[in-house]
Amino acid sequence: MTLLNVENLKVTYATDDEPVHAVNDVSFRIDEGVNYGLAGESGSGKSTVAEALLGLLPGNGTVESGTIEFNGTDLTSLSEAERRDVLWEDIAYIPQSAMDSLDPVMSTGDQIAQAIHTHRNVTDAKARDRVRELFEIVGLDPDRIDDYPHEFSGGMRQRVTIAMALALEPDLIIADEPTTGLDVIVQDKIIDKILEIQERMDSSLLLITHEIGVIAETCDELSILYGGKVMEQGSVDNVLVNPTNPYTMGLKNSFPEIDEEDEDPVAIPGSPPNLNREPTACVFRDRCPFATDECGESHPDLVDLPNRNHRSACHRVKEAAQLRRDAVEPET
Ligand code: ATP
Ligand code: MG
Repeated sequence: MTLLNVENLKVTYATDDEPVHAVNDVSFRIDEGVNYGLAGESGSGKSTVAEALLGLLPGNGTVESGTIEFNGTDLTSLSEAERRDVLWEDIAYIPQSAMDSLDPVMSTGDQIAQAIHTHRNVTDAKARDRVRELFEIVGLDPDRIDDYPHEFSGGMRQRVTIAMALALEPDLIIADEPTTGLDVIVQDKIIDKILEIQERMDSSLLLITHEIGVIAETCDELSILYGGKVMEQGSVDNVLVNPTNPYTMGLKNSFPEIDEEDEDPVAIPGSPPNLNREPTACVFRDRCPFATDECGESHPDLVDLPNRNHRSACHRVKEAAQLRRDAVEPET
């Protein structure tokens, strides 16, 4: 069963200058029980996708077109109030930098209780019991529910935000860079915790991160975004083991640990594309070691590769195996 189906999503931000085309024609589908990754470097449009589907874009952001279906309901057709209900009842959202945006003058337990009261008609005592239970689920000491955010470490604050998002047992958990800014050991623990909870609640997960290594470890399927475009999409086994898109190949080389190779990370040279215009050439062309004249003429369509859960947007997709070999041993 399809839980979330995003089709042809376009989002722009108005600015004093030209508009920013942050998300250009993005489609992806998350089936029930699937852990889905959304990857791509900074500025590729990951958070914009999440905010658009939750109706939480900042004031200058507009969904220009596209549909977002959740459990068969088009979220874009709902009023803000209706969407908020869906958000809390069915979708848990852990926004980017959530742990830094807790209210500093309210105890962590009260913040979670407040979220529960907004959506459930329960007594204070019941809400407190639930908060204690949630603290335990995320691995915090339930005797600390009256502590304030500053009394916790970064990793513990992130556990508080996870507890808050999970208060109502969602069908889908959307976590935007849940481990960024935490040290590596804490990162692993937070990821393990999210996975444990997701299994226990039988929820699906949309994990947004620039670290494809984390996605390789935790997700079944993924989309790779660049310049607001899906460059490659499909099962983690297909996309990350046999990438067909030079951008994915470059991303992999910048995280060599996903192949457990001892190589040094190699960053992709160059800088992200200008988003002030809709793409008229492949958005990755300027940084792609394999670009040809054709790549300057149009952005390639995202096409299905035969017989597999694997799609790629690259004019040279038919030569992918050769490009992969050349990407490993660049010509000198
Ligand atoms: P990061 O990994 O840094 O979180 P991201 O992939 O989440 O990046 P977004 O935050 O979705 O990227 O941003 C996509 C593009 O939209 C970027 O070019 C960004 O500068 C631009 N952008 C984001 N928010 C706004 C805004 N409110 N107004 C104008 N431009 C914006
Ligand atoms: Mg972001």
